[in-house]
Amino acid sequence: MSDPDRDPGLPPGDPEDAPLVTCSRCDREWDLEYELEELHAGNRALEQFALDHQRHTGHYPDDTSPWLATCRHCPAGEAFLAERPARRWAQTHARHTHHDVTLEHASTDEDEEDAVIESDAE
Ligand SMILES: [Zn+2]
Ligand SMILES: [Zn+2]
Repeated sequence: MSDPDRDPGLPPGDPEDAPLVTCSRCDREWDLEYELEELHAGNRALEQFALDHQRHTGHYPDDTSPWLATCRHCPAGEAFLAERPARRWAQTHARHTHHDVTLEHASTDEDEEDAVIESDAE
């Protein structure tokens, strides 16, 4: 009755499901299997990869231009691949800590448009 070698309830791990990231500066490409399987990064896998890549190489892979939310008062900071979560993080941090948070887009090297999320200190 039971067949231990085949469990139809468990889908086989399909590496083709892992998203692919390319970096024209490194002239390489990677799939995100490691981020998905080992780090359980889920839908933040691309983000995780981009941040790791930047940490180790000093630049971001193609099609990733993270938004960086950096607190001006404490070491807190996060990077996001979209403005909305970055802004949300900044606002949440400002709300809870009464700290001002700088929001910057990593890809815009030239025209720096740093936004400052200020705490509602009245
Ligand atoms: Zn690279
Ligand atoms: Zn802070």
